[in-house]
Amino acid sequence: MEKISVAVRFRPPIPAAGDPSSCSGGGDREWRIDNGSRVSLLHRAAGPVPGASFAFDHVFDGATTNEQVYAALVKALIHSAVDGFNGTAFAYGQTSSGKTFTMNGSDTDPGIIPRAVRDVFNTARQAEDREFLIRVSYMEIYNEEINDLLTLEGQKLRIHESLERGVYVAGLREEIVNSAEQVFELLQLGEANRHFGETNMNVRSSRSHTIFRMVIESSAKNQVDSGDAIRVSVLNLVDLAGSERIIKTGAEGIRLNEGKHINKSLMILGNVINKLSENGKQRGHIPYRDSKLTRILQPALGGNAKTSIICTAAPEEIHIEETRGTLQFASRAKCVSNCAQVNEILTDAALLKRQKVEIEELRKKLQGSHSEGLEQVVLKLRNDMHKSELERDRLAMELEEERKVRETLEYRLAEQQKKLEDIGSTSISADKFTDATQLDTLKTPDSKYAPDGFVACRLRYSNDVEFSPVPETLDNVADEDLWARLNKGCITDLDMLEMTPGLKREESMLQDTEPAVPLEEPTEEKCQRLEKDCTSDRQQLEDLKERCMTLEKERDLLREENSSLQQELCKSRQEAGCLIAEKQEQLEESRTKCAELEKELSRSRQEADCLAKEKLELVGELGAEKQKMEELRQDIRVISRAFSHREGQLTSLYSKSKAIVEHCKASQVATLP
Ligand code: ADP
Ligand code: MG
Repeated sequence: MEKISVAVRFRPPIPAAGDPSSCSGGGDREWRIDNGSRVSLLHRAAGPVPGASFAFDHVFDGATTNEQVYAALVKALIHSAVDGFNGTAFAYGQTSSGKTFTMNGSDTDPGIIPRAVRDVFNTARQAEDREFLIRVSYMEIYNEEINDLLTLEGQKLRIHESLERGVYVAGLREEIVNSAEQVFELLQLGEANRHFGETNMNVRSSRSHTIFRMVIESSAKNQVDSGDAIRVSVLNLVDLAGSERIIKTGAEGIRLNEGKHINKSLMILGNVINKLSENGKQRGHIPYRDSKLTRILQPALGGNAKTSIICTAAPEEIHIEETRGTLQFASRAKCVSNCAQVNEILTDAALLKRQKVEIEELRKKLQGSHSEGLEQVVLKLRNDMHKSELERDRLAMELEEERKVRETLEYRLAEQQKKLEDIGSTSISADKFTDATQLDTLKTPDSKYAPDGFVACRLRYSNDVEFSPVPETLDNVADEDLWARLNKGCITDLDMLEMTPGLKREESMLQDTEPAVPLEEPTEEKCQRLEKDCTSDRQQLEDLKERCMTLEKERDLLREENSSLQQELCKSRQEAGCLIAEKQEQLEESRTKCAELEKELSRSRQEADCLAKEKLELVGELGAEKQKMEELRQDIRVISRAFSHREGQLTSLYSKSKAIVEHCKASQVATLP
């Protein structure tokens, strides 16, 4: 068991038009935040206001960014969701207090939804030992009707419950996605379909609750065994419509009606939280089924999920009462415990499991060819397969419903015929019945007298999945006192309210509650009337049979579509096969080339070795030659030195002999007479 995480976030003050000073509040009272976890109302002159001090997991002031809110309250939840825990985060508060800003954010400071989407993909990418299949849906609850925001065809969807899938919205479009960017495109599409209206308080005030849902399935990689468990978790990111005091918003007409629906579903959310916050033993029945919002969020409220609530509040003095209401709601939410556990599924309920064989085949084929185009084809095929599965489920459900109605009608027809036959043989007179009690026993229980003609006790229908109280009986929910009533701990006892049942129930009740036949009615008239009834029942039966035939035709069409999809799958498998064969051929070719090149390489290596050897030898020879040359040079030097020595000797000998010759010549001359 773990408590729901609850934070309160004050938005920055908004200056009133032409009066910038009003943003400071300017009045006698103001909210003061202490230690980031406590908030109290202070009277400037008299100090703390008694009974107006609250503590939460976090209290954020107007300067807090979406990044800080996300890190403190949602990041861990997202990581858990990737690990297989259900998770829900929602923003709650009066109109214009910053719910949409917190969930969606701005360009410069993205809100919880875009941050969570990126985080989911990043965390999944980091879990290298697991493979993921992520799909998203986006719905709104507008005037207590569920509309698909991803397709305009999905209007007034219905909630169903099954053992395998739990509570789910039948016919809701789910898109398999593999990147955050893809999700942002879908969110943009959904945003365009949202209901926005203008009230005095917020020019883009959202008039519907929106639920953005990611279903995260994962399995351990490299385990193809069909007995493997698949983790499936559901992550809900919810932007609630704001509660409003009609007197402030000035809503009328359509807007007033929307306001009533918004306030009513928030009141039921408050009731659910109130009941859950009570001590377990006194808790009793939790009215989840009283609104579509609480029904869809049932696991998040006291069930198998981790939940974070961001209660947004306006700091201005004129909103003090609403803020106090929000803080009281937040205080009670803080007492609610959830029991979250990893959801592991062994059956075929997990989409990942159903598609596993296909995925494995495709993945094998994809290995080696990193073709992005092929990835897109696979994603499209997976989406198509999932869509046709959803459509088949929807049709099967419709068929089942039609079959039930047909059976009821057939049964009633048989009864009418039996009655006709009985009347033919017997004549009943009123005087056989002595008192009113006996008369009553002849009527169907639902047609008994009721003081206001149409009401039915809610308890009788509380097990009906589709039941939802009709708002006309709660005209005062849009009253300006609602917010205070809702949040001051008042628990509206819906069991005590008299409400009309939902549309479908209403129809069957109308049929059941046809006026009892006055016993004194003449037999002939009675026969005629019953015959008329029979004819109209037969007509209805015919209509139903026709409808069944149409549905069967639709089913056949879908089967055809399915088989054409299978064919497409086959074709793309073949294409993938061709592609792979082509790639393999190319690979073979390049392998041969590679081998040839390797041979050439080894040849050239051998040649190079020989050349190197030769070179070595040559270098050796060159060395020897150089040595010889050096020796020769040395010899030449010695010889030339000897030569020059001799030359010197010769020159001196020559000079000496020349001197001697000269001397002789001179002596000869002297001796001559
Ligand atoms: P809500 O969804 O509760 O009706 P919004 O989120 O639309 O309210 O907020 C009303 C206005 O206040 C918007 O203009 C929004 O940009 C602004 N606002 C709300 N919270 C903050 C915040 N924390 N910081 C800055 N601006 C904010
Ligand atoms: Mg909003």
